[in-house]
Amino acid sequence: MAATPEDSATAVPRAPRRKASRHRGEGQWAAGHFTPLNGNEQFKKDDDGLNVRTRIETIYSKRGFDSIDPNDLRGRMRWWGLYTQRKPGIDGGKTAILEPEELDDEYFMLRVRIDGGRLTTDQLRVIGEISQEFARGTADITDRQNIQYHWIRIEDMPEIWRRLEGVGLSTTEACGDTPRVILGSPVAGIAEDEIIDGTPAVDEIQRRIVGNPAFSNLPRKFKSAISGSPLLDVAHEINDIAFVGVVHPDLGPGFDLWVGGGLSTNPKIGQRLGAWVPLEDVADVYEGVISIFRDYGYRRLRTRARLKFLVADWGVAKFRQVLEDEYLLRKLADGPAPDQPVQRWRDHVGVHRQQDGRFYVGFAPRVGRVDGTVLTKIADLAAAHGSGRLRTTVEQKMIVLDVTEDQVESLVEGLESLDLTARPSTFRRGTMACTGIEFCKLAIVETKARGASLIDELERRIPDFDEPITININGCPNACARIQVADIGLKGQLVLDDDGNQVEGFQVHLGGALGLEAGFGRKVRGLKVTSAELPDYVERVLKRFQAEREDDER
Ligand code: SF4
Repeated sequence: MAATPEDSATAVPRAPRRKASRHRGEGQWAAGHFTPLNGNEQFKKDDDGLNVRTRIETIYSKRGFDSIDPNDLRGRMRWWGLYTQRKPGIDGGKTAILEPEELDDEYFMLRVRIDGGRLTTDQLRVIGEISQEFARGTADITDRQNIQYHWIRIEDMPEIWRRLEGVGLSTTEACGDTPRVILGSPVAGIAEDEIIDGTPAVDEIQRRIVGNPAFSNLPRKFKSAISGSPLLDVAHEINDIAFVGVVHPDLGPGFDLWVGGGLSTNPKIGQRLGAWVPLEDVADVYEGVISIFRDYGYRRLRTRARLKFLVADWGVAKFRQVLEDEYLLRKLADGPAPDQPVQRWRDHVGVHRQQDGRFYVGFAPRVGRVDGTVLTKIADLAAAHGSGRLRTTVEQKMIVLDVTEDQVESLVEGLESLDLTARPSTFRRGTMACTGIEFCKLAIVETKARGASLIDELERRIPDFDEPITININGCPNACARIQVADIGLKGQLVLDDDGNQVEGFQVHLGGALGLEAGFGRKVRGLKVTSAELPDYVERVLKRFQAEREDDER
């Protein structure tokens, strides 16, 4: 059975045990509230999510989908990257009406975590082969540097794990109330302008925390990001914890610590604790913060469980004090804020020189959609033109590293032949879409195909538009494609068309951003468009922006 709160081992000091107050409060373990206050807390207490792996391998993969315990099916499977996918043909109007089991298909979405976005050609070939053999060719690059499959059968999971783990990949805690994938700068260790390479910290956190039962029952997901790039290229503002490269005037290069960012319910930009963390201390500080989340995080309501709610209630001064006094048992140095990035695009698309004189080439599929065959061909191209290293980005893009100058154009042409361009239009470069109704049980509208056709339409209609612009498309009110921080954020919902019929459409958010002036887009009251009207609407907005913009207006 699960490690209980009382017997979980951890390398950092635990919060002092307090006598449980009679008021059930927010369900914080550190306040003595260990009685589960909702179904999710109950199934996590009943058995650690990590333990479902054994049942999948010994029971479910042999006896099939119908043998799966419901608490495993819709709960613990996530600890190993598995979600049931949406039964085909159920329209968005039924999403909120049907019971979860009525939406469940007997196939799964499977997420492969790629910490730091680092891949080798051997790993990419295996990912491509699994896609072709077990996932009907599906493979999407997500905006958290992962790869996501669909159409996975439970019977195939032992073989899929054998192949992934054979090349050092994993699905451990790719979903669930766990330490999710650690985002890393896609150009860590190679960019000419790098402040500091965070790769050793990504590796240490992965080794120490991921799959460790001491951290496998968190109040909610825990998202993290580490980048030493001045481009601030990991969307650090919207992670539960982020380490951002800075140069301390006395202590040198290190990281500025941010906590409490997150989108979805009550979106919040992360807050700086004002602390400077040297590379060798990043894993300790990460462990301290995730321990605070485990011990003090709110477990009563899932809608208030993310770390951002605790940070908002405590404030940064108390959060830092608890981190230092109860967990690290030492003070952190004060440090500077990161500089604003000098450019708007943070995706590393295009051809760029590396520290060692070679080049990296970033390229753009449409809205992250590739497939197993294409991934295998990308692996072949990367092996022929580079050293075998690739990266994924948080904008659903990919990068081939270590290309000598004489190989660059041949690689770019090879990518173009796969419809993967290193010189994309503004629209292909800046548009992202979540999974949407094709596979997601929470979706109300179609997103991936809609995003791809929107790119094609805008390229045809406004070929001269060259201002960086982000268009993010969600299939429901959640925030998987980060709609709140896009120039144009599109939140899927049912809307009325001119004849009064309910059809697929979007609530529009305008003017959000990360980086230069991070903030949330404004929801324009009543501004909704049908999916069919979407290209017309975006074209109107952008042409008006072109015509009326002031100097330097974004
Ligand atoms: Fe599914 Fe909604 Fe997330 Fe899109 S935003 S992947 S529809 S939960």
